[in-house]
Amino acid sequence: MTLSALVGKSTNDLPNMIVIMCDDLGYADVGFNGCKDIPTPNIDSIAQNGVKCTSGYVAYPVCGPSRAGFITSRYPQRFGFERNPQYKPFDPDMGLTREEKTIAELLKPAGYQSGIIGKWHLGAHIPTSHPMKRGFDEFYGHLGGGHTYFPEKLTIQRSQDAKDEPQSYISWLLKGYEPVPPRKYLTDDFSDEAVSFVDRNRDWPFFLFLSYNAPHGPLEATPKYLNRFSHLPEGKRKTYAAMVSAVDDGVGRLLKKVREHGLEEKTMIAFLSDNGGPSSKNGSSNAPLRGNKSDIWEGGFRVPFAIQWKDRLPAGLVFEYPVSALDLGATIVAHSGAEVPKNKPLDGVNLIPYLKGQKKTSPHEAIYLRKFDQNRFAVRHGNEKVVIPWKGADPLLFDLSTDISETNNLGVERPERVRKLEKLRKSWNKELIDPTFEGLMLRKLRKDSKSKKR
Ligand code: CA
Repeated sequence: MTLSALVGKSTNDLPNMIVIMCDDLGYADVGFNGCKDIPTPNIDSIAQNGVKCTSGYVAYPVCGPSRAGFITSRYPQRFGFERNPQYKPFDPDMGLTREEKTIAELLKPAGYQSGIIGKWHLGAHIPTSHPMKRGFDEFYGHLGGGHTYFPEKLTIQRSQDAKDEPQSYISWLLKGYEPVPPRKYLTDDFSDEAVSFVDRNRDWPFFLFLSYNAPHGPLEATPKYLNRFSHLPEGKRKTYAAMVSAVDDGVGRLLKKVREHGLEEKTMIAFLSDNGGPSSKNGSSNAPLRGNKSDIWEGGFRVPFAIQWKDRLPAGLVFEYPVSALDLGATIVAHSGAEVPKNKPLDGVNLIPYLKGQKKTSPHEAIYLRKFDQNRFAVRHGNEKVVIPWKGADPLLFDLSTDISETNNLGVERPERVRKLEKLRKSWNKELIDPTFEGLMLRKLRKDSKSKKR
């Protein structure tokens, strides 16, 4: 018997959740955050029909740990997922620890069907780390951190035969556990699958994680989308714009399908990026935020963030208190009757009472970030943010309400605020563990130092 049956609630009453996550999309690259050169009318409609969160954060400024945070609703630094995993199909420990539960695992006893379409990046060891070993009922996508977009480039059939991250980019996609012959431009392919998922699961509660790898590199777009940007100069930004436009088309088709089935009132739909844009690599923009992907500055981990839920959330609201990607899972879990293990409480909170104005305070006392390998930290508390740029450095303090670009250090002027935020940071840091696996970067550093010795 499912939990929802035990509490006398029909599973038909339970809400759905769709999370659309882009990969390496810049803060400024959606219309709802002021983008002018890339029209994103469908993505913008989520903000127009719901809530735009101007201070939406992810748990980490690069892909893997950010996703580990989202999928567990817990800070990934609590369980050692603090580096981008290497692509190791035969290493069960290279990825999300089995000690942690995913949102899909939490929702399952309540009667949910969960699907992930797109990028996983939480471990490539199929027997233990595959999404369907981690609570998902369906998977269509790739296990590694990125993928080529053109079907004709996919030359490795079995994902286990890819020896490293670059090779994983050219392996066939998996449908469940089966490799699938290449079909079409990847973003369109994922959009097709997402529409089909809603068709197939419309009669029971579902959680769909549409995890586009766009607009992460390689920069690849088809003429259909490139032709929309003939006014832009040739270069990274043009291809990037075309890739974002392809995502926007997919979002439009998915929203239309949800409407067609009359599921808008039953479905919370969120849109966000997994980290800030790496501007020099893919032509993205995080303006007016400082920094890029992988930074502890706002541009690293403050992302485009919007949520709609027809009749449950106000339309057109701009919400300025900090919210987190960790809140999305926590919100649907709170509405599902699912149980959370007592020894692993969620860091995310149910956002609905805050977004509806029933609770007037900030949803979080603070938003935290640690980058273990670089000894960097950031803590946002109210409108202030303390930054430790490297080990032993004096803490910097910024007031984001007047200085969103983090240019004016107020650390000397406001010592009592520095002390307060430092106290929060140190107390949070005590709850964390060291990283549990060697990431892509360390491997690269080791290789570089070896080749220098030779
Ligand atoms: Ca990313």
